[in-house]
Amino acid sequence: MPSLIVTVDAELSGLADGQGLWGKFEGREYGLQYLLGLFADSGAKATFFTDVYAKADPDLSHQQRACEAVVAAGHDLQLHTHPGPAFDPARTQLRAYSAVEQAAILRFGAERIREWCGYLPSMHRAGDWAASPATVTALAASGFTADFSACAWSRACGLPTQLLSGNGWQVCDGVLFCPATCIRNGLTGKLRRLDLHACSSRELDFVLASHCDPVVLVMHSFSFFLEHVRFGATSPANDGSAKFRALCDYARNGCGYDIVAAADFVRRQTQSAEREAWTAFPVTDLLTGASRLLHAAGRRLKIKFRSPRCCHPS
Ligand SMILES: [Zn+2]
Repeated sequence: MPSLIVTVDAELSGLADGQGLWGKFEGREYGLQYLLGLFADSGAKATFFTDVYAKADPDLSHQQRACEAVVAAGHDLQLHTHPGPAFDPARTQLRAYSAVEQAAILRFGAERIREWCGYLPSMHRAGDWAASPATVTALAASGFTADFSACAWSRACGLPTQLLSGNGWQVCDGVLFCPATCIRNGLTGKLRRLDLHACSSRELDFVLASHCDPVVLVMHSFSFFLEHVRFGATSPANDGSAKFRALCDYARNGCGYDIVAAADFVRRQTQSAEREAWTAFPVTDLLTGASRLLHAAGRRLKIKFRSPRCCHPS
């Protein structure tokens, strides 16, 4: 049975008052709690790659509360590295550090999660996808078993090219690498990553129907919040949550996918005899390619005509 892995990068993202994590807007929350509710409704266990590198309170407390909320809801909590605040504010991305420094950063983050939640994370995704060849060495040296930083769509991702050449999973230096699923637009020739909000529903369905295994879906803790702020989306039908429910339904009932957390997927692969499953990026048909352009144009129009009250988060 193929696997769909729902991943969320949970982070402050430079927004004040913990808004990147909590997304308070017009008396409601559209951040982590909203995501946890959506996943509960959909019966989906997700993996939250969570940034824990704040220097001090109040940001640190926000990150701790986020980790605790993810674990309390029964989801998979793993490490996301935006190391600047805790290490060197001039070097915001992991790839700016040496292999030895990266290993120290990974251990530091894992230890923070252990202090807060009682267990050591074993999987990682670099902030901005900004991993480097040194990250492979650092992960192996610091006890991590899997990494989800590979993303062929991102210019910041500097992992070895063999990890950026398709979808699936590979083992490199004893670490299992599982890239963010990408597709090539058959109309424009450009690569796309599978992001719930950035992709059209037709693109999401296309990937599932092409039987990529695993499919790694990307979301962020602030995505629904920004949809509401930017677009004035006032109902779940408009903010991407209906799209997520439809995706889960089509994955399970239309394409036979099992929706699993990254930890469960990695455990299953490391127990199997296979050492790799790798396929070329699927190329969309022209209609699916056009759906991407229409989706992007629709978002731009929504921004242009949004209600002024929606411009200011509260
Ligand atoms: Zn991030």
